[in-house]
Amino acid sequence: MSAVKRIGILTSGGDAPGMNAAIRAVTRSAIFNEMSVKGIYRGYKGLITGEIEDFKTQNVSNIIQRGGTILKTARCDEFKTPEGRKQAYDRLIEQDIDALVAIGGDGTLTGARIFAQEFNYPIVGLPGTIDNDLFGTDVTIGYDTALNTILECVDKIRDTASSHDRLFFIEVMGRDAGFLALNGAIASGAEAAIIPEISMETDQLADMIDNGLRKTKNSSIVLVAESEVTGGAMGVAERVKKEYPEFDVRVSILGHLQRGGSPSAQDRILATRMGIAAIEALLDDQRNVMIGIQNEEIVYVPFAKAIKNDKPINRDLLKVLRISSI
Ligand code: ADP
Repeated sequence: MSAVKRIGILTSGGDAPGMNAAIRAVTRSAIFNEMSVKGIYRGYKGLITGEIEDFKTQNVSNIIQRGGTILKTARCDEFKTPEGRKQAYDRLIEQDIDALVAIGGDGTLTGARIFAQEFNYPIVGLPGTIDNDLFGTDVTIGYDTALNTILECVDKIRDTASSHDRLFFIEVMGRDAGFLALNGAIASGAEAAIIPEISMETDQLADMIDNGLRKTKNSSIVLVAESEVTGGAMGVAERVKKEYPEFDVRVSILGHLQRGGSPSAQDRILATRMGIAAIEALLDDQRNVMIGIQNEEIVYVPFAKAIKNDKPINRDLLKVLRISSI
């Protein structure tokens, strides 16, 4: 029998569609296993200030289809200090919370790792980020929905791009990872993707134009991952205006709409499976691991591995994009 009688659950950092499905699954799985649940609002901030509420199964009714997070999220600089983390720890003890489930991205899991080590406190993490940039899991909660949102937008932009014979640079999110841009480009039929992983190695814009961009087409769409390495869509467009003035260039930055919306079936199922796995991990006396999914199987990934390693992009996809866009 696990020593965990009461868990706390929080969402932190950037919100992602499917976080609610995860909150629902964690809550219900905990209750199913005779644990009690406390919902902690606004991530580590609410943990420090004590914005904490008892969660019953009804608290998570009718939320699986909703984007965002009912627990709210926040960024919390105090948690980056030993004093802030001590306050958080004191709050957990005061509330009789034996273990924490933290849903968020790289920053959230970095904080969880430091805290878990500092206080020898059990935490299980769930990868909740549209960027898909956590190592040890094939996909993260929110990624599929964001990808589908990108497709919808690119399809619309294509109508105007082709009516005007324009070259469009569309910036998508990713925080230094090119998954959304690369897979978004393949799925939307874009001509190319400019992503940080490759921009470090080669001048992707020059390569793209040398490879005969628009030899066969009048309009083109290129997805650009937001990043200092790529310069983002604005940076790339500025270069084109200077170096290749023959192109009629436009920029569209998709921005925060990529985070919103009802989660896709895939994200709801992923979040539900992962949420249930988080409680099973605690019952199994696992601690300080992120739940991941690899080849459709749930896996436990030590925090250190999930956050320290850069998740590589699958280079086969570059070839797929190049061939499919001639
Ligand atoms: P995400 O989880 O989406 O990557 P952030 O990077 O903003 O989002 O991180 C969310 C929160 O996690 C931060 O506001 C902070 O409270 C906590 N956090 C991030 N990095 C650290 C760190 N090095 N030490 C302690 N806490 C951290």
